[in-house]
Amino acid sequence: MRPSKCLRCGSTKLDQGLLPIPFNLHPVNYKSNNQRKLSSSATVEATMCLDCGHLDLYCDPQEVKRRLK
Ligand SMILES: [Zn+2]
Repeated sequence: MRPSKCLRCGSTKLDQGLLPIPFNLHPVNYKSNNQRKLSSSATVEATMCLDCGHLDLYCDPQEVKRRLK
C-alpha cells in the first residue's frame, strides 16, 4: 500500500515514481527466491517526500504472489 503521508516527517507532499537503472531506463524489480524460474519480476514503485526526501518503496504483494511456486 502506498503511504498517504511521509513516515519520517508526516508531510503529505508525496511524489510517485520508479527507480530506473542508470543508462538502462528499466525500473528496479523484485524477484522472490520462491518464484517460478521463468516468471518475470515485479516492479518496485517509489514514493518520495518532497519536504524531507524520505524514500518509501512498494511492491504489489498480489503481483508477487502470482509468481510464487
Ligand atoms: Zn518527509
